[in-house]
Amino acid sequence: MKRIEIKNGKHYASGEKVTICIENGVFTESLSGDPDEVIDAEGLTVFPGLIDMHCHLREPGYEYREDIKSGTKSAAKGGFTSVCCMPNTNPVCDNAAVVEGILRKAEQVGSCNVFPIGAASKGLNGKEISEMGLMKEAGIVAVSDDGKPIATANLLKKVLEYASDFDIPVLNHCEEMSISEGAMNEGAISTSLGLRGIPAIAEEIMISRDIQTAEYLDMPIHICHVSTAKGIEIIRQAKARGVKVTCETCPHYFSLTEECCQTYDTNFKMNPPLRTEKDRLAVIEGLKDGTIDCIVTDHAPHHIDEKDIEFSLANNGIIGFETAFAVGYTYLVKPGHLTLEELIRTMTVNPSSILHLGRGTLENGMPGDVMLADLSSDFTYTEEEILSKSHNSPYIGQDFTGRVKLTIAGGKITYDELR
Ligand SMILES: [Zn+2]
Repeated sequence: MKRIEIKNGKHYASGEKVTICIENGVFTESLSGDPDEVIDAEGLTVFPGLIDMHCHLREPGYEYREDIKSGTKSAAKGGFTSVCCMPNTNPVCDNAAVVEGILRKAEQVGSCNVFPIGAASKGLNGKEISEMGLMKEAGIVAVSDDGKPIATANLLKKVLEYASDFDIPVLNHCEEMSISEGAMNEGAISTSLGLRGIPAIAEEIMISRDIQTAEYLDMPIHICHVSTAKGIEIIRQAKARGVKVTCETCPHYFSLTEECCQTYDTNFKMNPPLRTEKDRLAVIEGLKDGTIDCIVTDHAPHHIDEKDIEFSLANNGIIGFETAFAVGYTYLVKPGHLTLEELIRTMTVNPSSILHLGRGTLENGMPGDVMLADLSSDFTYTEEEILSKSHNSPYIGQDFTGRVKLTIAGGKITYDELR
């Protein structure tokens, strides 16, 4: 499709009716001829396509959970036009051949842009630095050992120094492993349920280590999925004194709490774990004052056999592409915590600027990435509609406002429930 015109939609920031033109994959002021496709967005709001800087597509190696085709379809359904996939695949994405394989597959069968994140250490072993330069040439946008933290302060220091030579952002999963053996947040509820707990300080100690290392080197660091009040406060103070730290959170940390674990439903089991109501409110506060830069899904598909077991044995993680925008809209914009524009910034331009992706707005000349959503009516999220191969969502059966209706990535319609 060469020329697309989207008319009668409401601009997400200005609230005004707009006509959006896309030609040859990019936004243009006007079309050079008659449109090949006219999309009537009457009653809908027009957004830039969403960017998820933290997800797990599971390919190569774990295709029984998800693959690039199903994962990007699921992403497109959630309004995402770009996703960044973590390297904890099998084989690990720690060399150029795996990076190239992911990009080739995404090109062939993907429903959105895929930007691979390379491993910070070889095989995620926490010992030797990976071949970042070669991976960057192949197309990675960042490095991380996600799933695990970058194991030691010594390794982190080397990773930050080496990555900065290639201008590669470093993303760290913050968890001090020596005090982190548990199935849920440590506190009164874990005790009453008889489950081993993961204390908030497991996250906070590692955030402190990362910030002090980045500050010492005067180099940037990005903290993955923050979930605790104290962790957010540590980041807030570091930002105030000029440390080059950025961070992200996930929809579940501002919409759910540890109390959900009382159901023993393993779709409430993730890492970091759901925290207390005080932490949940601190996440919202962090988003409001800009301490938290991005909302990411941490989309982590697991097979039913890995979830439909005892709570303490079940795998960590939930799927997240298809509900992220609706959870954000319902829990942040509707109650008035964030404006629509502020919410969208955390899911477009902020991740784009941290990872230097050069997209995330509706400006002319930018890649033609669009999401249309209905903000006027509620819907119930059902298991039947899930496009991910895995169904491990804690939100099934819940009502939301903010349904994605159509997604266009680079001028190609990738999801459409309008026709
Ligand atoms: Zn993680």
